[in-house]
Amino acid sequence: MDLILASQSSTRWRILSCARIIAKAVSPQIDEENITRSLMAEKAMPRDIADTLAEHKAKKVSIKNPLSWVLGCDQVLDFEGKVFGKPKTQEDLRQSLIRLSGETHRLITANVMYHNTKPMWRHISVSHMTMHPMTVTEIETYVEKSWPDAQHSAGGYYFEKTPHLFSEVRGNWFDIMGLSIGPIAEYLNQHVNGSVFNAPTVAAVLGHPIAHSKSPCMHGHWLETNKISGSYIAIDIPPGKLFQTVKVLIGAGVMGFNVTLPHKEDALALADYQTPRAKAIGAANTLVVDLKGSITADNTDGYGFITNLKVNSSDWFPQAGSALVLGAGGASRAVLSSLIEAGAPKIYLSNRTLQRAKDVALQLSPLIEVIDWEDKERYLSTVTTVVNTTSLGMTGKPPLEIDLSSINPKAMVTDLVYTPLETPFLVQARSFGCSVVGGVGMLLHQGTPGFEAWFGTCPTVDSEVEALVLK
Ligand code: NAP
Repeated sequence: MDLILASQSSTRWRILSCARIIAKAVSPQIDEENITRSLMAEKAMPRDIADTLAEHKAKKVSIKNPLSWVLGCDQVLDFEGKVFGKPKTQEDLRQSLIRLSGETHRLITANVMYHNTKPMWRHISVSHMTMHPMTVTEIETYVEKSWPDAQHSAGGYYFEKTPHLFSEVRGNWFDIMGLSIGPIAEYLNQHVNGSVFNAPTVAAVLGHPIAHSKSPCMHGHWLETNKISGSYIAIDIPPGKLFQTVKVLIGAGVMGFNVTLPHKEDALALADYQTPRAKAIGAANTLVVDLKGSITADNTDGYGFITNLKVNSSDWFPQAGSALVLGAGGASRAVLSSLIEAGAPKIYLSNRTLQRAKDVALQLSPLIEVIDWEDKERYLSTVTTVVNTTSLGMTGKPPLEIDLSSINPKAMVTDLVYTPLETPFLVQARSFGCSVVGGVGMLLHQGTPGFEAWFGTCPTVDSEVEALVLK
């Protein structure tokens, strides 16, 4: 199929790629501002303005490329019959937010398909967007922080970057982004020979901060290698805003989430259903939304931890002997739960803050015995599994100070830290003959159950995806 997107918008081009639709992007070079201005002077309805602009774009490119299918799109923000454009100044943005906050506006997305210089199909979608009321201070902070982005977007917001500004959304993710991919895929399937396209499924990782997350790179690779129609994005959600924002994103059709710090406990609390392992750990890192909008919370960190060890240390058996776990933070709870579930007969738990370890042991299992941080080396000769779950040894953090000279050389030693790939702790363990496993495999394996639940395919963890997340 020879499809041209009559637009230079990288977002629209990406949406087509998410659905595995290959298109060439050609700039239509129309004077949008002038056309909009004259339509507004004629008191045209906002949906007619969007439709006319989409038509102009498709037609202009079709005239030069009559044999191609040409898709033109446009979006306008309609509030009480008035079209809101891109703010030209910070004062414009301020005024726009004052008008929109606490109110419901509509995003109208028009799509027009041309072939042989003639209009073949058109579709208009309407998304209803309700913004939270914003205080003067919130508006000022937003204007100050978001101006570089805001000036390029109608109404002055990018929904995918700030969904927490909204209290309710009724619409579709891709319509809101500016292109109605579901109806477009359906049209192409019916009218263009050889087309078999599906509307993409959307999943996201939510955290604060989130820019460092490796999940988009990992899931993006799996979507690409499995040729799945889907999209996986990272969204920064400020603390305390998870409940409302997940509801809003589900309203926009997002079907799955990974959740990272500081939202893991909230993610468990907001779910309609909790898997036993998420309940035991007291936190969730994966949310699966069903077609009715019900949310199931899971915690796949323990699954990732055990799978990493099974894959990379084939003669390790958790049942073979006791384990020593260093650290009692969030990740440790998943490690402890999964070791118990895998059959570890006893676990010694050591943490700098003794009380934290005691609380975790009390909550999780009588098989966990808390030992003093200073005493941890005394247990090295008797255990067959040693795990570092502290952040010590991570690049930029102090090293984990431990003398492993008394370690049982048959012990398997693992570290959750994966930057560097092999921590000084693992280097030392290897020098005493122990088998060692780094933490990157845990990161990769914890992602597979979510991917399978959202996108319907169990992805492969291989050296290619490992190299990508370590880049
Ligand atoms: P967390 O909840 O903040 O816990 C941090 C742990 O490190 C606590 O036990 C803390 O002890 C200990 N710690 C920090 N500084 C210390 C120091 N100077 N001396 C002694 N102990 C110290 O963090 P987390 O979520 O559990 O994550 C822990 C590490 O695991 C991080 O490096 C994280 O990147 C890694 N991780 C890896 C994966 C993976 O997929 N490979 C998954 C999750 C986490 P106190 O209780 O005394 O503060």
